[in-house]
Amino acid sequence: MKIALIAHDKKKSEIIELAKKYKDILAHHELYATGTTGTMIMGETKLDIYRLKSGPLGGDQQIGAMLANGEIDLIIFLRDPLTAQPHEPDVSALLRLCDVQKIPLATNEISATIMLEALKNKVFFD
Ligand code: PGA
Repeated sequence: MKIALIAHDKKKSEIIELAKKYKDILAHHELYATGTTGTMIMGETKLDIYRLKSGPLGGDQQIGAMLANGEIDLIIFLRDPLTAQPHEPDVSALLRLCDVQKIPLATNEISATIMLEALKNKVFFD
């Protein structure tokens, strides 16, 4: 599967912990990430991740374009709901596209854990 990983700054430590915990599962998939998230996860896990631009510089929109083209199967996007983001319109657009395309989307740690467990146990996902 093609999996996109994104985390706002205050959620980067959470996505890194998830990536470490599920490294063996994630390694079997094609991974994409926004710039800073991807760099940090790669630094901590050595997972092979294709990095797009940083979120505020268009990375979310790049992932949205891939999603619209049917090139993303699952998104983990750990959002920070308590901090204003300069690229909020891009974030909203990406979340909307997930619903348009019916792509599974986890926006917090527990949802992401449930999704990764489903991936690990091959529930819902092949
Ligand atoms: P980043 O972007 O991984 O480059 O920090 C994430 C975001 O803020 O959308």
